Amino acid sequence: MKKTILIIAITLAFFNCKNNKQENGKLNIVTTTTMITDLVKNIGGDLVNVQGLMGSGVDPHLYKASEGDVSKLVNADIIFYNGLHLEGKLVEVFEKMESQTKTPIALAEDIDKSTLIGSDYFASNYDPHVWFNIAYFKQFASKVAAVLSEKDPKNSVYYFENEKQYLAKLDTLQNTIKSIIETLPKEKRILVTAHDAFNYFGKSYGFEVVGLQGLSTATEAGVQDVQKLAAFIINKNVKAIFVESSVPKRTIEALQAAVNSKGHNVEIGGTLYSDALGNAGTVEGTYIGMFEYNVNTIVNALK
Ligand SMILES: [Zn+2]
Repeated sequence: MKKTILIIAITLAFFNCKNNKQENGKLNIVTTTTMITDLVKNIGGDLVNVQGLMGSGVDPHLYKASEGDVSKLVNADIIFYNGLHLEGKLVEVFEKMESQTKTPIALAEDIDKSTLIGSDYFASNYDPHVWFNIAYFKQFASKVAAVLSEKDPKNSVYYFENEKQYLAKLDTLQNTIKSIIETLPKEKRILVTAHDAFNYFGKSYGFEVVGLQGLSTATEAGVQDVQKLAAFIINKNVKAIFVESSVPKRTIEALQAAVNSKGHNVEIGGTLYSDALGNAGTVEGTYIGMFEYNVNTIVNALK
């Protein structure tokens, strides 16, 4: 959508704006990524309607708002998004919303910036893939519970109870992941993927992480990048590299071909869920299921 059309669509949608809260009394919440959609469903439970703009396999770096999305956003009681310029093409829509007295909530903005991984690539100056640090995702959960309670105080006990239960599940997840990763020798902890989504994962669990496309999928990898990374893989004797569900797999296949053409064999170790969860209704369609699936896939392929 062109800029002017977008602004007209937002303005028109405001004129048609319904009063807050749907007739059934549930909070109407709009989210961006599948990770945030899953989180808000866990905290809001049966008391909220959650509409996620992005489905499984959708790349948030490239996602643009449709007119239908704009009207969902305008009619929302609450909007949750990641922020730190993950949803790079939605920033303009959110800024426009703010000027219309609706404040979309960027969950990652509350994280202590001094603990984030820096990046020159994003306008935020930080790597936005923070959900791969479970401690940060716990902060997301607490923020969501606090916002829901503020908007719907009579149900705040329910939201905080859901938060408590979800945080306990995330603690269990953390322990499970650590015990799986302990089975992989430290020198084999090298993760090569399509784009740099796993820096926080690497920092948390001691992996050296290399993404072929840099931090965002908005830039394509060049021939030189492929050759350089192929040499790295051969030098470090990396056994497997990984495709991502939200990034076309041709770049990783080109990398595999470059390695194999030099007489070294590297496997494609499987598909990881980086910037989007798996299909709704599957285990990988939840944040917790996705994380465990990724770790099992990585460890099994690199062993
Ligand atoms: Zn990404």
